[in-house]
Parts: sequence; structure tokens; C-alpha cells
Amino acid sequence: MNERSKTVLVTGATGYIASWIVKFLLDEGHTVHAAVRNKEDKEKTKHLDEIASKLKGELKYFESDLLNDGSYTKAMKDCEIVFHTASPFIMDSKNPQTEVIDPAVKGTRNVLSSVNETETVKKVILTSSVAAIYGNAEDANQIPDKTFNEEMWNHSSRPDDGEYSYSKTQAEKEAWKLNEGQNRWKLVTINPSFVVGPALNPYANFESKKFMLQMGNGDLRMGVPDINLAMVDVRDTAKAHILAAFKEKAKGRFIISENSYKLLDIGRYLRKKFGEKYPTPRFITPKFLVWLFSPMLGVKRTFIKKNVGYDFYFDNNKSIKDLGLKYISVEESTSDFFQQFIEYDLI
Ligand code: NDP
Repeated sequence: MNERSKTVLVTGATGYIASWIVKFLLDEGHTVHAAVRNKEDKEKTKHLDEIASKLKGELKYFESDLLNDGSYTKAMKDCEIVFHTASPFIMDSKNPQTEVIDPAVKGTRNVLSSVNETETVKKVILTSSVAAIYGNAEDANQIPDKTFNEEMWNHSSRPDDGEYSYSKTQAEKEAWKLNEGQNRWKLVTINPSFVVGPALNPYANFESKKFMLQMGNGDLRMGVPDINLAMVDVRDTAKAHILAAFKEKAKGRFIISENSYKLLDIGRYLRKKFGEKYPTPRFITPKFLVWLFSPMLGVKRTFIKKNVGYDFYFDNNKSIKDLGLKYISVEESTSDFFQQFIEYDLI
């Protein structure tokens, strides 16, 4: 991470993961072009301004929207590396096609079209997801050791069933297709599992925070489904982006995941650290009950059917070997995340 200073673009720069990427880049003295939807929205940019004021690098904002063709071209001018993180991570969309799939897929095409027109760009780091590798846990039964690796793709998600996973799969495929059509810029994808850990803007709303708040706000007091969740720290996720950008030997896709856990494990970690004060989950809810009440919880019955009670894992060896990533334990990440909620009076 001690390369000479470069000019780079981060799309969706104020997001949960992207904010940490921006911080690490500024810390290394790089010039960061931060593409955001509204640069006048100080609620979203304040934390980055504060970080930039203390670090070596320079931060410049640009206004861009995934659905406005060409709107990243200005932000990309003079950039050598593009970190494309922007993509809707929302699990409760009313219209999956327009709210999730179009911004992810057309947005990736939009950003990479600008990359094709910008001669200075040599490398693109795309924030994909393990959702582009597996669709639902039933897939795991087809795979040796129930362990997914970077050779595998999600074949099961569809626009009307697992739209977020579908959006990530199609967006990553589109990126590889555009990459293969030229030979100037390299593509590396970062495929994180569920990301947890402290946020640089604790007041923002994002899916990882919603999940973690539920672990201690009483919503899951009566029990949690027997769901397998692979997880990774947000700082490691951001670090993986930086390592992928600056390490010559970083090629292809990288699963970024510390390990797979059960939701009950998280409850146990939180009780170990914070005692009995918070109503953390202690029980497994029987699958038929979860299935019955799933519409009330805002979860599709098909999701419950295909995900509850199955175990699966992700092979993170490539990230350790080629990126040199050393993972923070999920016990530490979830505790640090929860600690932040307490400090900021969010729980
Ligand atoms: P955030 O919601 O914090 O970040 C999403 C970012 O995408 C925001 O900056 C948002 O901008 C931007 N965005 C959404 N729609 C548009 C649009 N139409 N035009 C421009 N920008 C847009 O979530 P995360 O940080 O968690 O997610 C970042 C990336 O990481 C996503 O690609 C997500 O799929 C991926 N990921 C996340 C995981 C997780 O567990 N958190 C796991 C694996 C992958 P705005 O602030 O203006 O809304």
C-alpha cells in the first residue's frame, strides 16, 4: 500500500464500504475523485470531509448517477484506477427491476463505458459479492464440501426470486464481458460475504447496520432462523480493494470472507462482550414457524424454504495467498460494530 500517489475514482464514495476505501486511499496520499449522487448532501459527505482534513491525500467530489449515461466521465478524468462500488444494496425494494437490477447492471455498463473512453484508466476494481457466486443454500448441496470458490457462479437467482443476488451476478458478468472486449484496463472483482464492523458514518442507513441492530434491539428476542451467514469485517473488505488495486499479482475474482456463522453465534458473541443488557437472540425458531410468519417479517417464503437449515462455506484461500489479507475475526467485528451503536446512542 505504499505506491506513489495516484489519482483514482471511487463510485458511491459515501457508502459503508466505500468510505473505508476512501479513508485508506487518502491515508496513502492518493487523490480521490469521489462520485456521489448529491455532493451538497452534507449529511452524507461530512464524515469524508473530516477524514480528508486529517490525511495526506486530496478529496474531490463529482456528481454522478448510475442511471445517467456518461455521468462518470468527468469524475474519471486523469484517473488510473477506478473502484466501482456503487450499487443498490436494498432488500425491501418495491420494484426490483428499476430499483435494484437496472442501477446494478446498466450502472456497471455506464461506468465501464466511461472507462473504455478514458485512456488513463489501467485497472478497475469492482465490488461484486458472494451473491454472484451462490444464489441459495440449496446450491451448496451440489458442491463438494459445500464450499464455494472463485470458479463458481450463481445460477439460481432470478429477477423475481433473489433480485439482489441476480443484480450482482448480472453486473459482474457484464463487467467481465466488457473487460474481455479490450486490453488496456485490467479487471479485478472483490466478492465479499456479508459485511459487518464499525461505520465511518454511523448515522447512515445501510443493510449491514439494519441487520446488526436487529441482533440487539429485541426484534429477534423470540428466536432466529437456522440461517448460515458468511461474514467479513468492513475494514478487511476495504483493504482487499486497495490490495487488489496495487498488487501486480492480484488477478480475477477474490472471495473476501472470514468464515460462515449461525445467527445464534452472533448473539453469543454479543452476550460475551456486553453481558445480558441487550435482548440478543438465544433460540432457533423452527423452520415451519419462520415460513409461516415470513411475510410479516418482510421476507419471502421462497427465501425461507431455500435458505433455512442449510450449511455452506466460502474458500478464502486465494485472498490470503495472493492479497496477503489477514482477517479480523467476526467475533471482534460484530462486537466493534455493536460498541459503535452504544457509543452513538443508536440502540
Ligand atoms: P451502501 O448502501 O452504503 O452503499 C451503496 C452505494 O451505492 C451508496 O453510496 C449509494 O449512493 C450508491 N448508489 C445506489 N444507487 C445509486 C445510483 N443510482 N447512482 C449512484 N450511486 C448509487 O452499501 P454497502 O457499502 O454495503 O455496499 C457497497 C457495495 O458493496 C455494493 O455494490 C454492494 O452490493 C456490495 N456488497 C455489500 C455487502 C454488504 O454486506 N454490505 C456484501 C457484498 C457486497 P447514495 O449514498 O447516494 O445512496
